[in-house]
Amino acid sequence: MNPYGEMRWHGSRAVCGRRLLVCFAAALCLVLCGCAGLRGQRLERYSAQYFDLFDTVTVFTGYAPDQETFDRYAGEMYGELAEYHRLYDIYHDYEGINNIKTINDNAGVEPVQVDGRIIGLLEEAVDLCGQTGGAVNVAMGSVLSVWHEYREAALADPQRAQVPPAGLLEEAGAHMDIADLKIDREAGTVYLADPEMRLDVGAVAKGYAAEMVCRKLQEDGLTSAMLNVGGNVRTIGAKPEQKGLLGLFGGGAADGEAWTVGVQDPDGDGGAYLHTVELTGGALVTSGTYQRYYEADGVRYHHIIHPELLAPWNRYASVTILCGDSGLADGLSTAVFNMEIEDGLALIESLEGVEALWIYPDGSEERSSGFAAYEKS
Ligand code: ADP
Ligand code: MG
Repeated sequence: MNPYGEMRWHGSRAVCGRRLLVCFAAALCLVLCGCAGLRGQRLERYSAQYFDLFDTVTVFTGYAPDQETFDRYAGEMYGELAEYHRLYDIYHDYEGINNIKTINDNAGVEPVQVDGRIIGLLEEAVDLCGQTGGAVNVAMGSVLSVWHEYREAALADPQRAQVPPAGLLEEAGAHMDIADLKIDREAGTVYLADPEMRLDVGAVAKGYAAEMVCRKLQEDGLTSAMLNVGGNVRTIGAKPEQKGLLGLFGGGAADGEAWTVGVQDPDGDGGAYLHTVELTGGALVTSGTYQRYYEADGVRYHHIIHPELLAPWNRYASVTILCGDSGLADGLSTAVFNMEIEDGLALIESLEGVEALWIYPDGSEERSSGFAAYEKS
């Protein structure tokens, strides 16, 4: 028997009263349920948090018909992101995996056979390095490891905080020529031709991984979600449409609205927002002086290292990039942070669909021409 028999359109004017009543009741039911999403399914909002990936907090929020469906997507997201985490790790070895650390350990020794996800990341990083005149350079690992060591020591014992000696930084700075990063896509290998060179993918890895994971989730049917990996935000679609009376009365989820994402106040405590932007499938990534730093003699040394100064540059308090691709947004946020405003602005304006917000230490701001259009009033 056709379960929808009562609802079928008969094309006749002689629709009996009982049928009309059934149709009306069914329609009212749909309206009151505030149905959302595809095929009339009501989608609920769910969220999950993880603390063990990319040395930061990951928050995954999504709309799904039920907890079980959401958990399946969250499990897939976590599993995928964890794989990227292991591949892009520069500090740890993992059984049976050649990762970025393996490449570093084999600098000047031999090419290392690696997963395509490493080749993809590094190719994009090399492109960005070229496009930004070296303002973001994954081959700066030797310099970055000096700062990392001094920062860790200072955080462990703040009384003894020190700035790395210039000589040590210059020595390391002689080994960051990106041309010595040899990627052989055909052979699937990566080789560092300079034995003293090291890769550090901290500026690009989270954003690239988030981008790839979100694309995969979309392929697998997820239509409405937000993935936040330590402030690298990538959205999937908008919030689901919420037709019906509950929507009108403010119940249930939103009306196909964009996701709202905050731009942190660089001076604020506890992650206060200075601005909010609306995203529908796009990404928002910020590089700031407040994210990771230490203090020595009352001066703050943050974790973004200018490739010519070989030290943190305090021109901006933060740079935020908004665009469709969170890998690009992550790489650009670090690069533009290290660029003069004229150069950074010119670069952003030359890129289709990319916008930026600069916040200076005194609180003044600069925006690319299209940024304000995304801001929530
Ligand atoms: P976060 O990772 O805190 O979100 P960024 O995306 O700006 O912030 O990345 C900062 C990280 O990138 C640093 O911790 C360091 O590992 C690396 N890094 C810092 N300066 C540079 C640079 N000029 N080029 C490439 N990588 C950098
Ligand atoms: Mg970055």
